[in-house]
Amino acid sequence: MKITDLKCTVLGRNPVVRITTDEGISGLGEVEASKSYLKPHILFYKDFIIGEDPTDVERVMLKIRRLGSFKPWGSAVSAIEMALWDIAGKAAGVPVYKLLGGKVRDRVRVYNGAVRFPMTGYLPEDYAENTAKMKASPENFSIIKQGIGFHSQMLNRVPGLTYGDLRGGGLRPNRAPLTERGLKHIIACVEAMKEVLGDEVGLALDCGPGWMVPDAIRLAKALEPLNVMWLEDMITGDYTPYVMADVYREVTQSTSTPIHTGEQIYLRQNFRELIEGHAVNVIGPDPCDIGGIAELKWVAEYADLHGILMAPHGTGDGLIGLAALVQVAATLPPNYIAFEYPVGAPEWWYDIVTGLPDPIVVDSFVEVWDRPGMGVELDEDATGPYLPEGDEDFFD
Ligand SMILES: [Mg+2]
Repeated sequence: MKITDLKCTVLGRNPVVRITTDEGISGLGEVEASKSYLKPHILFYKDFIIGEDPTDVERVMLKIRRLGSFKPWGSAVSAIEMALWDIAGKAAGVPVYKLLGGKVRDRVRVYNGAVRFPMTGYLPEDYAENTAKMKASPENFSIIKQGIGFHSQMLNRVPGLTYGDLRGGGLRPNRAPLTERGLKHIIACVEAMKEVLGDEVGLALDCGPGWMVPDAIRLAKALEPLNVMWLEDMITGDYTPYVMADVYREVTQSTSTPIHTGEQIYLRQNFRELIEGHAVNVIGPDPCDIGGIAELKWVAEYADLHGILMAPHGTGDGLIGLAALVQVAATLPPNYIAFEYPVGAPEWWYDIVTGLPDPIVVDSFVEVWDRPGMGVELDEDATGPYLPEGDEDFFD
């Protein structure tokens, strides 16, 4: 089998990759909704993979894997990798999870990082109200993640929480020391959320990046009695093109609160210091950023050897990204907690993708399906009206 074309269109805000072959089998991959601009970058890889056998996934990846980087520049390679596995599974007549070693669970736990309700403010009562809405959502999530500190508008909206000036806009542009009031405010907001969730639903907190080490340690220690699931991205993280594992290690070793990072990290090599140095307790690579689903599987196994847990990122990965998360999560070792459940947006995404269960999430789990490849398709007729001008040949 040979690759004949690499196509890309943008459906809503998610770039979608389609790889075609000379045997009529095609494969799909998807990029996060926040990266609508990546189409030219995806098409850059076309000449590298045309003529290759897509079922030899690793041999194709060796041609392009080095030509990517940390978020957002690993997304294109990651989406291509998914599409290759989709083809390989269809060619073999088995779900992708079989090709990754087989499933170890029939249903995969997900956590809420994308079913959101607008914040009414950034005071403890606003967090309590918002958390109550999420707790009541029909997916019955067993873990809810909320943004606080630098991973929210809290520090911009409530005066006096940091020393130094904060920049508005951009993707996580701020780093600053917290005032005592700032630290107390964040702790009060977390307490308010825990009050709502009790011990029925786990609370994870996306915190940054942007924290200074002493503040990170003080927060983590203060929250110890609350048993939060994890504190995410305090030092580096979303859109940070480096890791700083030694700094994470200082925070992690100072507290019993689990410390989490890794959503922006590209490739196993860049997880090495975090994992071998036991620098965090939980890692959260995203199959749409790390370099694909087999890369995520490899890192999960290596993390398990070092006593580190897995909670893969996925909030913007869309419904094809969801399929990739389900396939790989089915194969992960027992260090797997849950992946961050992505939603389809706009709503019409649910009309154009076939193969998903309905409802998708039941009591915080997704049942693993058994169709060949990733097991989801774009319905050509239903998708047609949403193809951007110039991409009418996407299904050719
Ligand atoms: Mg995050």
